[in-house]
Amino acid sequence: MYDTIIIGAGPGGYLAAERLGHEKKKVLLIEEQYLGGTCLNVGCIPTKTLLNSAKLYVHAKEAGKFGVNAKDVSFDWGIIQKWKDEVSAKMREGIGKQMKRIGVEVAVGRGEIIAPPRNTTPGKVKVTLSAGGTAEHEARTILVSTGSVPAIPPIPGSKDNQHVVDSTGLLSIAAVPKRLTVIGGGVIGVEFAGLFSSLGAEVTVIEMMEEIIPFMDKDQAPLLRGAMKGVTFKLGCKVEKIDGATVYFTTKTGAAEKVEADLVLVAVGRRPVLTGWGAEAAGLDITPKGVNVDDRMRTNMPGIWAAGDVTGKSLLAHSAYRMAEVAVADILTSLGGTGSITNRMRYNAVPWAVYGVTEAAGVGMTEQEAASKGIVVLKASAPMWASGRFVAENTFTGPGEVKVIADASSRRILGVHAVGAYASEFIWGGAVLIEQELRIEDVKQLIFPHPTVSELIREAVWSIK
Ligand SMILES: Cc1cc2nc3c(=O)[nH]c(=O)nc-3n(C[C@H](O)[C@H](O)[C@H](O)COP(=O)(O)OP(=O)(O)OC[C@H]3O[C@@H](n4cnc5c(N)ncnc54)[C@H](O)[C@@H]3O)c2cc1C
Repeated sequence: MYDTIIIGAGPGGYLAAERLGHEKKKVLLIEEQYLGGTCLNVGCIPTKTLLNSAKLYVHAKEAGKFGVNAKDVSFDWGIIQKWKDEVSAKMREGIGKQMKRIGVEVAVGRGEIIAPPRNTTPGKVKVTLSAGGTAEHEARTILVSTGSVPAIPPIPGSKDNQHVVDSTGLLSIAAVPKRLTVIGGGVIGVEFAGLFSSLGAEVTVIEMMEEIIPFMDKDQAPLLRGAMKGVTFKLGCKVEKIDGATVYFTTKTGAAEKVEADLVLVAVGRRPVLTGWGAEAAGLDITPKGVNVDDRMRTNMPGIWAAGDVTGKSLLAHSAYRMAEVAVADILTSLGGTGSITNRMRYNAVPWAVYGVTEAAGVGMTEQEAASKGIVVLKASAPMWASGRFVAENTFTGPGEVKVIADASSRRILGVHAVGAYASEFIWGGAVLIEQELRIEDVKQLIFPHPTVSELIREAVWSIK
C-alpha cells in the first residue's frame, strides 16, 4: 500500500511527489502523457525557449547600435524547434531521474479513483497503463493534480479548421506564419503575439475586454502594448466567426470588421481537467471552475487533496508548486507526521509575469483593485530610463516603469508592478515585501545591488512621502 498516490505529474504532481519522497513516504506518481505536465512540455518552458531564440534574433539585429557587428542575421525555425524539444526532453529526463533517486514510483497511464480513502480503509486507484492492461493500487492518501487544457470557445468556423490552432498546436508549427491573428489578449495570447512578431510575423490580437492582461495595472498595460510595436491590438472587440484564416469581429462601436491572416491562435483561457480520473466516484465537490479545496488544499473528501490548475484557483506553475507543498504538509500530518499550521495557501502575493522582448510582471494589488476595496493608497513610479542597467542594455529608453503601491494608513506595501527588462526576475522581491508585510520605511532601509533594474523598486518607494 502507498502512503500517497498522485494523479498527474505536472508542477503540482511532481513537486508533491518530490517533497513526499524526501520524507521517505511510499509514493506512486501516475502520468498519462508526459512528466512535467503542461508547463514543461507545452507551456512555460517551450514558450520561453522559443522566446529566447526570438530575443537573440532581435538583439542580434540591433547589435550594431552597441558597436557589435552581426551581419546577415537570420533564424532557422527548424533549429529553434529542435532546441525547444531538446530543452523539454532534458527537463523531463531530469524529473524522471529525480523520482528514481528519491524512490518515487512512476506509472505511465491514466489514473482513476475508484474508491476514496475512508477512516482506516485505504483508497483505491485504477491505472489504465499506456503499455496495455490495468493495475489497481491502494493508498492512505490521494492527491489530484490533473491540470488544465486549452478552453475552446464555440466560435463558428473554428472547429476542424486547419488554419486554427490552440497554444499546444502553435508550439510545433512547421514554419513561422507571415500573418498571425491571436484571439485573446491574456498572458498566453500576448506572449505568442510578441514571439511571432519578433520573428517578423504581422500579428493582430483581438481582445474582448477593453485592455489586455485583465489583472495588470491599468496604467501599465498600455506601456506593454506600446512596447510591442509590431503587434496590432483590437480591444473591446467580439469575434463573430472564422472563415479559413479570416477572423470576423464586431468593434466596440458596433462596426463589423475582419482580419485576414495565415494562421489563427485561439487563446481564450484554460479549463481544469475534471473528468477521466474518478471525481464522481470519489464524491468530490467540483464546479466548472475546478475542484473545491480549502486553504490546506483539502477537498470535501477526507484523504483526498487537490493542487494546481485543477483547482482553478491560480493557473500558474509556481502556484501549483506552492499548493503542492501546502497539500504535502497536510498529507504528512494526516499520515502521522508533524505538519505546520502555517502551511496555508495564500493568494495575496502570487507573482505573475508576461515574458517577451519587453517583460511585464506584478504581485499583489493593483491601484484599481485597492480602490475597488476602498483602500486609500500611496503610490509612486520609477521610469525604466532611471536605471543605468536598463539604459545601457536597451537601444530605446522605453516607456517601462516600476510602480509601487502601499496602504496609506498602515504604510504596508500592497503591490509591485513592472514593465521592462528583467521584470520577471525581480518580481519575487515584491512578493517578499508583501508576504512579510513590510512598510515603506522598512523597504527604504533595504540595500539593492547596483546597477540593476530591481533598484527601481527602491527608487519608487523612496519617492513616496
Ligand atoms: C502556452 C503556455 C504557457 C505558460 N507559461 C507559463 C509561465 O510562463 N509561467 C507559469 O507559471 N505558468 C505558465 N503556464 C501555466 C502552467 O503551465 C500551468 O499553470 C501548470 O502547468 C499547472 O501545473 P499542474 O501540475 O496543475 O497541471 P499540468 O501541468 O497541466 O499537469 C497535469 C498533468 O496531469 C496529467 N493527467 C491529467 N489527467 C490524468 C489522469 N487521469 N491520469 C494520469 N495523468 C493525468 C496530464 O497529462 C498532465 O501531464 C503556461 C501554460 C501554457 C499553456
